[in-house]
Amino acid sequence: MRLSFLGAAGTVTGSRYLVEAQGQRILVDCGLFQGLKDLRLKNREPFPVDPKSLDAVVLTHAHLDHSGYIPRLCAEGFSGPIYCTPSTLDLCRILLLDSASIMEEEADHARHHGYSRHKPPMPLYTVTEATRSLGQLRSASWERPLRLPAGLEITFRKAGHILGAASTHIRGAGVEIAFSGDLGRPHDPIFGPPQPPGDFDYLTVESTYGDRKHENVDPVEVLAEALRDAVRKRSVVVVPAFAVGRTQMLLHQLWTLKNSGRLPPIPIYVDSPMASDVTRLYMKHPGDHLLGGPVCREVFSIARYVQTTEESKTLSARSGPMLLISASGMATGGRVLHHLKSFAPNPDNLILLTGFQAEGTRGARLAAGEDSIKIHGDWIPVRAAVKTLPNVSAHADGDEMLEWLRKAPRAPRRVFITHGEPSASAALRDRIEKELGWPATVPAQGDAVELLPAK
Ligand SMILES: [Zn+2]
Repeated sequence: MRLSFLGAAGTVTGSRYLVEAQGQRILVDCGLFQGLKDLRLKNREPFPVDPKSLDAVVLTHAHLDHSGYIPRLCAEGFSGPIYCTPSTLDLCRILLLDSASIMEEEADHARHHGYSRHKPPMPLYTVTEATRSLGQLRSASWERPLRLPAGLEITFRKAGHILGAASTHIRGAGVEIAFSGDLGRPHDPIFGPPQPPGDFDYLTVESTYGDRKHENVDPVEVLAEALRDAVRKRSVVVVPAFAVGRTQMLLHQLWTLKNSGRLPPIPIYVDSPMASDVTRLYMKHPGDHLLGGPVCREVFSIARYVQTTEESKTLSARSGPMLLISASGMATGGRVLHHLKSFAPNPDNLILLTGFQAEGTRGARLAAGEDSIKIHGDWIPVRAAVKTLPNVSAHADGDEMLEWLRKAPRAPRRVFITHGEPSASAALRDRIEKELGWPATVPAQGDAVELLPAK
């Protein structure tokens, strides 16, 4: 078996691995590079292997840095099956179409404003191409090995992280390799701990927070205080939140407050059509989280879901107290922009950020305390307080990764550390070598290794 690292090596995004065994070529994850411009330009480079030569794609989960290149891969000739868990399949339908329509909008915008290195400006893929690629998705059950041609087998095991996220094992040519995928946290109240890693000869593991320890502050308490404050001042709390995962986590925290009698009387709105769609998927797949059907309905009925743009605009003109949860999570686009425009200038209001804000985004500017931000061409003064909700990461930290790895039934022959900034990957490698005594490597982009069966 041969393993090649085609992305997420030396960086967090662009997860793509090629597994070749028994005459089959399987691509594990098919992600977009995201972040600063240099990284995004990598999406325009020719794919490192001919898409037509691939037999199948396997997805660990639906986040775009793992799935977002699929429409392009298919447009370039990949016509085989794309295997994933049932909820990943449903999430991909939402995320890939949204990704395509943002790309089309950006290309239109560049065309009208005359900036682009492509002439005429072209989206990486269109909504039509994304729609067509969805027809290649095939869902596979949890934990039951799926047999592919030539005797290869793939198995999905729950990884926490987001709805449908899986650690993925591939067995063939006498070798079993596991891909951790993005690994969730051991005390996640919605998904529970990632399933123990199972047996494998080789492992590729993520290292987003390999050099970090998450703080131990209960976000529910911070949320409660923000809401009490808003009720007292009759003000507005605006929460820019990702539609996938973060919004549902917030709703669960609000429900926790309600259950313990600590939720102050405040109207709660979710103003993101995508977040509403994703929330419905939690109800469609009750087996993929700990809440189960009835509780799930109760948790998510804590908020009102805003549908039309008109309703959203009415909300922007309303006065507090109210809590507005809206996408996007880093305020790079979406309906949250209108709300920030309306509510950021008032010093009584609060902008509550939820988690990491990437460099160059409005979220990062808000987090840095800048006194104005540009929205739709206007400079908007930021007089509202800005806080960050602590401890909301959907990724395990260094200690939690080690805790998960220790559950493996035996030492693997080698661990490959990917999906991290170089310092994070190096820190995790050092800990794996020292604390577990396992051979570990941080591969570089383009590296390939021969994986041999145990003698
Ligand atoms: Zn992810």
